[in-house]
Amino acid sequence: MTAHPFHRADFATTAAEWRQLPRDGAPEVAFAGRSNSGKSSAINVLTQRKRLAYVSRTPGRTQHINFFRLPSGALLADLPGYGYAAVPAAMQRQWRGFLARYLTERSTLVGLVLVMDARHPLTELDLRMLGWFVPTGRPVHALLTKADKLSPAEQRRALREARSVIERDFGDAQVSIQLFSAEAHIGIPEAENAVGAWLAVHAPIAAAQKERPRHQGE
Ligand code: GDP
Repeated sequence: MTAHPFHRADFATTAAEWRQLPRDGAPEVAFAGRSNSGKSSAINVLTQRKRLAYVSRTPGRTQHINFFRLPSGALLADLPGYGYAAVPAAMQRQWRGFLARYLTERSTLVGLVLVMDARHPLTELDLRMLGWFVPTGRPVHALLTKADKLSPAEQRRALREARSVIERDFGDAQVSIQLFSAEAHIGIPEAENAVGAWLAVHAPIAAAQKERPRHQGE
């Protein structure tokens, strides 16, 4: 049995601008989603750390990327929830610039997990995230969360409809999609496999990183 890829993650650092991003070359998977989509719950259940993704979610910190370090040395990047109306427009613009640059230019970013509420996925903002990231040629794995709130028939329909929107807008891009529930533990192995596969491909970088002394202050 191989070691679990996500357990024992720890808070590493936080970044509000480009120069604050970790620079040790470790492969990184980003989690994006609207506020209240269930992104924190998904990260917490995947890492089996009850409060990991809540720790630095305090007011004023809503525009930061929080980084969690996995035992392999790889990073999970928790992007701030978007679509939160209370954020002033000027701040939203500045943030959008950073996020767009992060998604398009961050060289160590190996894939994006897009977290969406299964009851209303692929909103305009979700599509904008995909519009930035998909052209980079890197894979996306979408989680339709809170699936426990849907009946089995509604779950199948949500999955089918989301797949058809992705296909319509992004053709045969590498976008996989699944049902998920942090609460009812639906789809956890599937999500672990998808993200674990991205990190396994990049394992040599992670292994090299692990052998060096860990300077996490960046
Ligand atoms: P975030 O803002 O995207 O980080 O979302 P949170 O993880 O904080 O979740 C937002 C709300 O949705 C909270 O009240 C959670 O308890 C609830 N929630 C998250 N995941 C699930 C789930 O899988 N099922 C159900 N029923 N509720 C969930």
